[in-house]
Amino acid sequence: MHPILLSLLLGLTAAAANVFGGAIIVQKHWERSYLKYFVALGAGFMLATAIVEVFPAALQLRGSSAPFLVLVGYLIVHFFEHTVTPHFHFGEETHQEQFAHSHVAYSVLLGLIIHTFFDGIAIASGFIVSNWLGWIIFLAIFLHKVPEGFTIASVMVASGQSRGIAWGASVLLGAATLAGVLIMAVFRHQVGFGLPLSAGVTIYVAASDLMPEVNREPGGKMALVVFLGVGLLFLLDRFLHIR
Ligand SMILES: [Zn+2]
Ligand SMILES: [Zn+2]
Repeated sequence: MHPILLSLLLGLTAAAANVFGGAIIVQKHWERSYLKYFVALGAGFMLATAIVEVFPAALQLRGSSAPFLVLVGYLIVHFFEHTVTPHFHFGEETHQEQFAHSHVAYSVLLGLIIHTFFDGIAIASGFIVSNWLGWIIFLAIFLHKVPEGFTIASVMVASGQSRGIAWGASVLLGAATLAGVLIMAVFRHQVGFGLPLSAGVTIYVAASDLMPEVNREPGGKMALVVFLGVGLLFLLDRFLHIR
């Protein structure tokens, strides 16, 4: 299948996972306890993918300016998620007092829209380079997509928005993901920018968004699931990566 078509289809799949995550908050009775395993598995798998697979590929593609772009990617997400917005968790938001003003929730939404836009950039950049890179980046992103949709809907509910708006916010995250895929498809000759930026964004999401949520869980079980995520990448690399 053509790499652009494939990244569009998988971008759509990732977007659907955002929308599903939002629906879990809206449908109060839906089971949600398993989500934390996706956060932990995603943290490990994303971190390993970004450092072991995407970073070296970016170096190869971009040369000595790649590390700087990786740093820029990291800082872009940090700026929009945590400078523009003072407080939110990547999971269920329980600190309602932090969201007394609805503009706080909307700034979380803006931050996550920027982040999910780069999720899309990352998927398409991967497929432009190789099928292998595209698939593992997709998998890394897919693993945190349901918790991501869940997060934004939860923040919206915490700030007193209606369930419709909360779900709508998760739909917007899905749309931003798809927009990222489309933009990268149009500017596919700029993959030398897209890939290193994606590496930085992926490191941020894994180490600075997901990992703190893993560490909030009592006991060591969740921390161990992170290693499972890392192991999963090495297993795939060992058995499915044709060089
Ligand atoms: Zn909180
Ligand atoms: Zn994401």
